[in-house]
Amino acid sequence: MNLWGIDLGGTKVEGAVLHSASSPEVLFRDRVPTESQQGYHHILDQIASVVGKMEAARGYRPAKIGIATPGIRDPKLGTMRNCNTICLNGMPLKDDLEKRLSMKANDANCFALAEANMGIVKEKFPHARVVFGVILGTGVGGGVVVDGKVINGFHGIGGEWGHNIIDATYGERCYCGKIGCVEKVLAGPALERYYQEMGGEKRTMREIYERVKSGDDDRASKTIERMVHFFGLGLSVVVNILDPDVIVIGGGVGNIDLIYTEGRKSLQRYIFNDGVFDTPMVRPKLGDSAGVFGAALL
Ligand SMILES: [Zn+2]
Repeated sequence: MNLWGIDLGGTKVEGAVLHSASSPEVLFRDRVPTESQQGYHHILDQIASVVGKMEAARGYRPAKIGIATPGIRDPKLGTMRNCNTICLNGMPLKDDLEKRLSMKANDANCFALAEANMGIVKEKFPHARVVFGVILGTGVGGGVVVDGKVINGFHGIGGEWGHNIIDATYGERCYCGKIGCVEKVLAGPALERYYQEMGGEKRTMREIYERVKSGDDDRASKTIERMVHFFGLGLSVVVNILDPDVIVIGGGVGNIDLIYTEGRKSLQRYIFNDGVFDTPMVRPKLGDSAGVFGAALL
C-alpha cells in the first residue's frame, strides 16, 4: 500500500507519496507556500491544494494520510496548542482537515520517526532501540522513537524538549507562555537576537559562526559559547532520563559542527555518568524530507 504524508511547516506545505514502509521510494512529491499570515482557513486551503495535486498525480485518494504539524494536539480537547504558526493554536485542525478532505489525518512529530525508520539510524545503527531526534532550527523540536514507534505520551507532549526551561534569566517570552525555554535559547532566531542585544549588527547564525572562526568578534564568540553551553545543559536532561541509543540532530543550528565537538563536551559535563558520554550524535540523512516521509510512515 502506498503511504501519503503531508508536512505542514511555517513556510511550506509539502506532500509526498511513498511506495511502502518496507520499500519507501518516493512516487510523488510537491509543495505550496503555507502563507500563514493569511490565516487559519487559508492554511486549510493550502493543505487541500497539496492533497489535490497528490490525488491528480496518483489517480486516487487513500483512506489515511499522515500529517506532521508544528506544536501538539491536545488529546482531550482535540485542538492545537504550542504551535509556532500561531493561528493554528486553539483550532481543531485534525477535525477540520478530516471534514475538508473527507479523510483521516494523524498529527505527529515525524522527523525522529523518519530518521529512525528510513534515515541515518536505519543505515548506521540498525540495532538502536531508543532514538531521540532533535531539530535545532527556527524553532526547537524533539521526538522520541522506541522500537520504531513514536512515544506521544499521556498528554501528547512526549519528546517536547523544546519547551523545557533552561535559562529563565534572559530572553523574550515564548509563545508557550514561559521564559527561558530551550527554543528561546537555542533556536537560530534566539541566538541571533542574543548577538544583536550585545550590540552586534543583524546577522544570521551562519555569519555569526563565520565571525567566530575569523576570531575578531567577541560578541560572536559569546553567542557561540552560549549555544554550546546550553546545548549540553539542555540535552543532559534528556540523556539522564532517556539515555537514548542514538541522537539525531537536524536544523540549521544543528548543522554547526561545534555542536558535535564542544557541544558534546558540554553535555558530558552535565550528565550523571562521571563524564563519560559515548552515545552517537549524528546528522540526519533525509534532510528537509524527513517531516513528510515521517508523516507518510505514520
Ligand atoms: Zn516555550
